[in-house]
Amino acid sequence: SSMITFDNVTKVYPDQTVAIENISFEVERGTTTVFVGPSGCGKTTTMTIVNRLEEPTEGTVYYDGSDIQELDKVELRRDIGYVIQEIGLFDHMTVGENIATVPELKGWKQERIDDRIDELLALMDLPPEAYRDQYPTALSGGQQQRVGVARALAADPDVILMDEPFGALDPITRSELQDEFLEIQDRIDTTILFVTHDINEALKMGDKIAIFDVGELVQYGTPQEILANP
Ligand code: ADP
Ligand code: ADP
Repeated sequence: SSMITFDNVTKVYPDQTVAIENISFEVERGTTTVFVGPSGCGKTTTMTIVNRLEEPTEGTVYYDGSDIQELDKVELRRDIGYVIQEIGLFDHMTVGENIATVPELKGWKQERIDDRIDELLALMDLPPEAYRDQYPTALSGGQQQRVGVARALAADPDVILMDEPFGALDPITRSELQDEFLEIQDRIDTTILFVTHDINEALKMGDKIAIFDVGELVQYGTPQEILANP
């Protein structure tokens, strides 16, 4: 069934920039959809409409069957994990405290939160004993981004938005994180939207690929369909 549906969505910014025009697509529950295309073609705008950091100018977005305008913004954002290129960890909090933020807002019991932190750090190849009490500034870029992914996954979100999550990393670390994320994808039933400008990353990570070109969705299909129809 459809988790996210865009029905003829247009976004015009206040300065009259048309970021996306009449975009329609459906994202099936539990799948990964990758938005790919050059800088400035509307990928980030499309993502931020899903967690309502931006509002569409025209058209309707449905989230799990409901018109997104009718959902509570705060609850929606707790339900949607968000990972961006510029990491955005809280530097004054330890790794464990960073991961705990959303579970705490959701009122999880401390023991459940502690178990979850250890489980996610292990999953991200960061042994919990060594890393949970470190501060982010003591970690490498790749390690920080792993913590960012763990934080986004912490409260079992229904949806995760990942905007160039590995874009700032060197090619080797990037490839490692792609592989780790593919493994995690198999074990969770989260619906994932993933933005990249790297077609190889898109083909590797996506169940579906959405190719953008200046505000338009020009192709939408499986990696096989995209490769057969370049
Ligand atoms: P991306 O990595 O998706 O290409 P950008 O670097 O274009 O993102 O944009 C980074 C931030 O700047 C975003 O928050 C975006 O909303 C904002 N931004 C981008 N273009 C403009 C613009 N023309 N006017 C105002 N803000 C913009
Ligand atoms: P992408 O993620 O593909 O790089 P964006 O969605 O960030 O594309 O941007 C799409 C277009 O909208 C670009 O022309 C960008 O400059 C413009 N834009 C993005 N954010 C803003 C903003 N806050 N105000 C005005 N224009 C913006």
